[in-house]
Amino acid sequence: QQAEIGLIGLGVMGSNLALNIAEKGNRIAVFNRTTARTDEFLGEAGDLAGQIVACHTIEEFVAAIRPPRPIIIMIKAGDAVDQQIDALMPYLSGGDIMIDAGNANFRDTMARFERLSGTGLTFIGMGVSGGEEGARHGPSIMVGGTPESYARVEAVLTSVAAKYENDPCCAWLGLNGAGHFVKTIHNGIEYADMQMIAEIYGILRDGLGKSATEIGATFGGWNKGRLNSYLIEITEKVLTAADPATGSSMVDLILDKAGQKGTGKWSVIEAQQMGIPATAIEAAVAARSLSSMKSEREAAEALFGKEKLPFTLSGGNLETDLELALFAAKIAAYAQGFAVMAAASREFGWSLPMPTIAKIWRAGCIIRSQFLDEITRAFTATPDAANLIVTPAFSAMVKESLPSLRRVVAAAVSAGLPVPALASALTYFDAYRQSRGTANLIQAQRDFFGAHGFDRTDGKDIHHGPWGSGASAA
Ligand code: NDP
Repeated sequence: QQAEIGLIGLGVMGSNLALNIAEKGNRIAVFNRTTARTDEFLGEAGDLAGQIVACHTIEEFVAAIRPPRPIIIMIKAGDAVDQQIDALMPYLSGGDIMIDAGNANFRDTMARFERLSGTGLTFIGMGVSGGEEGARHGPSIMVGGTPESYARVEAVLTSVAAKYENDPCCAWLGLNGAGHFVKTIHNGIEYADMQMIAEIYGILRDGLGKSATEIGATFGGWNKGRLNSYLIEITEKVLTAADPATGSSMVDLILDKAGQKGTGKWSVIEAQQMGIPATAIEAAVAARSLSSMKSEREAAEALFGKEKLPFTLSGGNLETDLELALFAAKIAAYAQGFAVMAAASREFGWSLPMPTIAKIWRAGCIIRSQFLDEITRAFTATPDAANLIVTPAFSAMVKESLPSLRRVVAAAVSAGLPVPALASALTYFDAYRQSRGTANLIQAQRDFFGAHGFDRTDGKDIHHGPWGSGASAA
């Protein structure tokens, strides 16, 4: 009996996804560059080994799959994927579908579609979120490619995807790079979500002198309310874990240098390319970069000293204010992420289905939460909304939570505590709702030095100012 699907790359993600696929009753052929890993994997598969065809050559692997052959490539992103495509191509035939399930830059995915056009072979760029655990027990799956190639793999993919109230968190989102683009923005939002949580942790630790365990309890309480989400849940677990060697809070022993692999940065680059403000995501990416400059920060603290100013919130209840501040900022980050996707949808002709994207993020992925269910409902009710924050449901939430964000950011800034993502979220709201901003001055300056011209508020057909000597426009 031929396998329903094939998978190349038995690393952390690939091996877990392969076991998940097999467990859901799908026969699967597997291949790994280092063949010893293939044998080891079969040994780890236990009862599921009967569903797995372990192959040691590409030729044997391709022959084991039912045509048209869907082949998931779950290997290191970048050149390795192109090398793997090259190695596969001589053995494939018309209609076969190579599915890149790694964290590819969607521009690379677009180029791969281009490269394969006219060869009779098809390609799918597939974003998979949820880490190791998600891959094994149910990830969120974002698919880009032709609807026909998706139809060939839909049954297998929906069988392995996470379920939210029986709804599989897997969907076809658009042509070519749509799936990898949406995965990238998912990760951008994830960066912002994590940074904002870390900033609230910073206020509780450095502004209010709380211990990690105490802060963990606060997050645990918040996880029962409107902030309920996977990231808040794991934050509680992380903050309350002790180091087995010393008994100290584990988090207190971890160096404050954050890693990044690129998807946050790509989100910001694409947002900038399209002229869409994604300030909370930008702040989160920059905060990770600054965090990695540990020795520079140490030298600067020695030079300038550390501000030890009191953190005082005026009005409101402290814990509720912090909870609502985080909630308001989270709305801004998601609104920005969805605005970037809306722009990309126009730019690349994808027709990205916003309610569906929110729906398939409700379970399986790292940013999963009930909050995404509310986003699904808001975009379903108001599909043409210019921005998530102007939908009736979210504008009500913003009105309720914004005063807390303002108080918290003001108090943090006054106390010398860095809150770049929270502050960016706050100023995003303030700038977005300002019908008359300050760009009139920028236009005047541009006209002064570069004769760039401006439009007038009174509609008169005069587009340069009376700047006098030294001005280009004079
Ligand atoms: P691992 O490092 O665990 O595994 C890497 C796999 O890639 C191995 O099977 C390795 O084979 C293979 N590989 C590397 N280079 C080549 C090459 N030139 N040709 C063929 N095969 C190669 O990686 P992960 O499983 O963590 O990640 C796989 C992909 O999934 C990446 O794109 C990653 O960004 C993405 N991803 C990872 C997530 C995670 O939480 N880890 C979450 C979502 C996506 P060999 O055994 O021979 O070295």
